[in-house]
Amino acid sequence: MVNVMSTAEHHKILFEPIAIGPKTLRNRFYNVPHGTAYGTLRPGTWAAYRAVRAEGGWAAVSTEFSSVGPSSDEWPLHSSDFWDEEDACRHRLMVDSVHDHGALASIELHHGGAQALRRLSREPALSASGLSSEVPPPSYPPETPKTMTLDDIERVQRSFVNAAVRARDVGYDIVDVLAGYGYLFAQFLSPFHNHRTDRYGGSLENRARFWLETLSQVRGAVGADCAVATRLSIETQGPWGHSIDDSVALVRMGDPLVDLWDLNFGSSLDWETDISPSRLFPEGRNLERIGRVRRATEKPVVGVSRLTSPDLMAQAVRSGLIDIVGSARQSIADPFFPTKVQEGRTEDIRECMGINYCISSLDRGNLACAQNATAGEEFRRGWHPERFEPLTNPEVNVLVVGAGPAGMEAAIGLARRGAEMVHLVDATEHLGGHLRPVAGLSGMREWTRFIDHRQIQIDKLPNLQFIPSTRLDATDVRNYGASHVVVATGARWLRTGATPGTHAPLAGLVEDADWVYTPEQLIVEDQRPAEGSHITVYDTEGYYMGAGLAQLLADEGYEVAVVTPHVQVAAEADMTLESPTIRAALHRSGVVVHRNISLTATHRRRVVGLGEFDEPFSLETDALVLVTMRAPVDKLYQELISDREALADSEIQAVHCVGDALSPRAMAEAMFDGHRLAREFESPDPAIAHAYKREPLRLTLQGYRQR
Ligand code: ADP
Repeated sequence: MVNVMSTAEHHKILFEPIAIGPKTLRNRFYNVPHGTAYGTLRPGTWAAYRAVRAEGGWAAVSTEFSSVGPSSDEWPLHSSDFWDEEDACRHRLMVDSVHDHGALASIELHHGGAQALRRLSREPALSASGLSSEVPPPSYPPETPKTMTLDDIERVQRSFVNAAVRARDVGYDIVDVLAGYGYLFAQFLSPFHNHRTDRYGGSLENRARFWLETLSQVRGAVGADCAVATRLSIETQGPWGHSIDDSVALVRMGDPLVDLWDLNFGSSLDWETDISPSRLFPEGRNLERIGRVRRATEKPVVGVSRLTSPDLMAQAVRSGLIDIVGSARQSIADPFFPTKVQEGRTEDIRECMGINYCISSLDRGNLACAQNATAGEEFRRGWHPERFEPLTNPEVNVLVVGAGPAGMEAAIGLARRGAEMVHLVDATEHLGGHLRPVAGLSGMREWTRFIDHRQIQIDKLPNLQFIPSTRLDATDVRNYGASHVVVATGARWLRTGATPGTHAPLAGLVEDADWVYTPEQLIVEDQRPAEGSHITVYDTEGYYMGAGLAQLLADEGYEVAVVTPHVQVAAEADMTLESPTIRAALHRSGVVVHRNISLTATHRRRVVGLGEFDEPFSLETDALVLVTMRAPVDKLYQELISDREALADSEIQAVHCVGDALSPRAMAEAMFDGHRLAREFESPDPAIAHAYKREPLRLTLQGYRQR
């Protein structure tokens, strides 16, 4: 039960209800539109994911962009399409599930215009202007779109109105017309895209006409029953040319037509200005600019700015920068954020780290979170973010070896399930494993939120003890007195230069070469080449480690070169929207980059390799840092399981291996592994994951024929 009495005085403003047109938000927490990739294709997964955010206290829960028709078919992207009655059935499940928990349901109606992918519908892209006005077409996709005729404009408007009516009939409380992020309405608003000479082009008023007419029609159709909102990106960088001043003017024009402004930033070209990865930008950096636009409206404003601190949220509402706190990522990391603030349990919040694993995983087809293993697993595996099923047999003493992400997560899960005692043992004096030194790299401080959250939970659990500075070998483990052992001993970077492409050591590399370094040697053991050295970082990983080390060494005054087989440095960070700024920082620091190069051999003071077309590459260097692959640290596990007799003689009933010790992967996956083991600890074979529910659910032959 919610204990309202314990809400901190300065957070109470966040729990004041607020009217938006005919509807009322129960508090100031708004789960704004964000993709999941589950969408209407996996309606059970989708509904359960959204519903748990409603259960956790968000006042409104939105869909991701919901396309209004085939000319905005977004396959294989993750639109929760809303074209017809069949779509409506799938949406109803989500709406009802959200309502079950007392939240309002919102739908973001969308048309991508020139950016719509249209792979299944195969319709031409629609645009404010195409080549007919002798301007270059939009950059993405690389086609020349069709310039919209007046008939096209009316058709699209009708599809928005029809979708809005359908939304109301399904039970949506809020209809949010997407006019941001560079999609169709934003293309009309933008002088970069819109070169029309009719009443939909030219002045800002004319460019806004399509959007305003649509809002007016939507309001006329459903405004008595639903709150009408519109999502506007209030500033874009680069050629889109959309300024805050434009937004102020647009908000004045649109104010009579909406009940709520949903404000964010950016276009397809500069999405990171909205997303603001923690690696590059502080929390709340957009609030002042949202506040400027808010002053132009009488209507409530929901604003986003990677907000994770309840103090900052309350201050932003109190000082009038926003009325309602918009959040996507914090709701992914902790669906129960509002409840925890309300109950005065802010220390229990799983703070979003702003590392955008969600975004990269979404684009790979399944939203996942590096803080919250249960995100997306609510239906599929039946996991609740706050509840664990008690163990059937809690009389277990579990020894977890290794306190990295996997070990911490397994230990906490087992303790929360009521295990009699869990010992979490690590050779080092700290929790966090590989994550702790990584968080020392430039811009990566907020990764420590992962450790901080778990440290607090570990301190709170009486049946979980952290035992630092203790390295255990197989004999120690067998003699420990544990009934169950979880090995979470992590991974180490290879010192051989083997890559996923070669599977072989670099020719000429002597094992103990004193001029070759692994990441651990640099950031754990603090070893360094002589001052003034030229250092080459060979980066085949392509995420944070190679670029992070190059930046670190350049900051320390070394002459640094990065050699990578990828087309860009930190190519993987393209998926997390961090890469443009990472590359710019390396460039500013004088780091020289050699792309498309695979090293084949090393000699003292020289590395050699091949370029894209097998052209020879050679570089003089004093030191070489190898950021290629990681190998599991699994000697302990292998020793324990291979000596079955010794294991049988000990009291140990089972030995499990989780995380990077099993298979070195992204931190989120190591964490997930530990979490899954805790959830499935009593299954007949916990090494193998339970079958999870898959969608679409069974389609019978008869059902297929009837279609
Ligand atoms: P993961 O990402 O899988 O959680 P990490 O590499 O982050 O793994 O963490 C592994 C942890 O295990 C490190 O903190 C390391 O000190 C610890 N460790 C490795 N081997 C042993 C051992 N034999 N005894 C105790 N701790 C160990």
